[in-house]
Amino acid sequence: MDKMVTFFANGNEIKAKEGEILLRALLENGIEVPHFCYHDALGVDGNCRMCMVEIEGFKRPQVSCDTEVQEGMVVRTMGANINEVKRSILELELINHPVDCPICDQAGECKLQDYYMQTGLYDSRLTTQKVHKNKHIDLGSSVMLDQERCVLCARCSRFTSNITKTGELGIMGRGDHSYLGTMPNKKLDNPYAMNVVDLCPVGALTSRDFRFKQRVWFLKSADSICQECEKGCNITIDHTQEKYKEDVIYRFKPRANKSVNGYFMCDFGRLSYKKQSENRQEEFLISGEKSESFEVLNKLKNLLDLNKGTVSILISPSCSLEEMMAVKLLAKRYEAEVFCDLDLYLEGKDDDFLIKAQKASNKKGTELLGINSGDYKKNSLIININHKKIIKENGLIVEFLTHKKENNAYLVLPIAYFTEQKGSAINSDGYIQRMEKAITKENMTLLEIIQAVLEEEISFDLIWQELQKIDQLNGISWDKIGKTGIKVL
Ligand code: SF4
Ligand code: SF4
Repeated sequence: MDKMVTFFANGNEIKAKEGEILLRALLENGIEVPHFCYHDALGVDGNCRMCMVEIEGFKRPQVSCDTEVQEGMVVRTMGANINEVKRSILELELINHPVDCPICDQAGECKLQDYYMQTGLYDSRLTTQKVHKNKHIDLGSSVMLDQERCVLCARCSRFTSNITKTGELGIMGRGDHSYLGTMPNKKLDNPYAMNVVDLCPVGALTSRDFRFKQRVWFLKSADSICQECEKGCNITIDHTQEKYKEDVIYRFKPRANKSVNGYFMCDFGRLSYKKQSENRQEEFLISGEKSESFEVLNKLKNLLDLNKGTVSILISPSCSLEEMMAVKLLAKRYEAEVFCDLDLYLEGKDDDFLIKAQKASNKKGTELLGINSGDYKKNSLIININHKKIIKENGLIVEFLTHKKENNAYLVLPIAYFTEQKGSAINSDGYIQRMEKAITKENMTLLEIIQAVLEEEISFDLIWQELQKIDQLNGISWDKIGKTGIKVL
């Protein structure tokens, strides 16, 4: 077991592992220390000198990312002396900076801007021309570089050397002519490239996909889980609704969860936010003709009554646990069998970082709920719930769909996407994780549709009472899952 020590920061008593990096111990205990180059996932580089603190017994301020915590240490992160040091470092960072915040996409989430507002606030003393560098460099992978805004913290280049090990980025040149760029004849090109945009503490690296589309202070965030593979990377869904317009999702960003995805996500998952508005199924259909929801629901009820005992339900293994349980309640009433087909969701290979070959985000959930592959065709009525499978037979087919797909269904019912309802899923590491509702759309949720068919209350709480009957979920609730999930398998 790690030996713990006690130290003091701004008068607060703090316990930390002996030898822990002082900056990390301070940040983990909610004490803000300005920093550019240090990042929990990249470790210490010590190049920006921004994380200076005063430590009793030392004549001069010390760099907290390069100092280990010791028993009895007395640290100050505030005060006139330390503020003066921070102002001097900021002045150096800003000497050649273009200060183009009004047109910078990072404004509102820029560390340089924040720190300047906290401790800078001085007029420039520069009387000569600033050093100019390139402002619109397409690095590849949808990442744009403005070299003038770069503070040379090397987070991005350390990410490509240490994390993806692709080494596309580096800092070249000398002195105030140093610049960030790609290595000769290289483009930024790896499946995780866009993480450098999140890592960049300033507006030097921006996403071509997001930039100039929305000011960040208008965005609201909901915590959720990427649905594009079974890794279940934690994300925030950033969205906003302008007056008289629809609520729009502008981006997915990785959300830190050390047990699952660390601080990162893949570009494919990141850009999957576009699915929210692309090719959505929004109409109820009977034999391909647009129909009223009540007509379709009535026909579905009649079909289920007529075919009781011979119904197959094929469900997507990316549905939430709550949706799966609601389907099981429907199946119980109509003596139906519930299947899924996991092989259909296997694509490519696992990589050695986050990406999984199994693209079903809740594969473990299907296993826990006992939903297996099987001969779904032997029955007279097939209900296909957002499953990839395209059923070609001419029998009675009912499709519940978030997105349009080729089908020859008798009935089609549009259903809500994961961004439009709350739910949970179990990832490949066995963590049950939560998806919050981000936006409101017209589509009914699967739970609402099943409630209408069964003509009895299928509330979220009732579903959870059913889920809690499963040994591994006994004592768990949606609230208890919290922001970073609980290991249940
Ligand atoms: S581009 Fe951003 S992350 Fe990269 S070195 Fe410059 S400031 Fe740091
Ligand atoms: S690794 Fe999988 S879960 Fe993570 S962002 Fe990529 S697709 Fe989504």
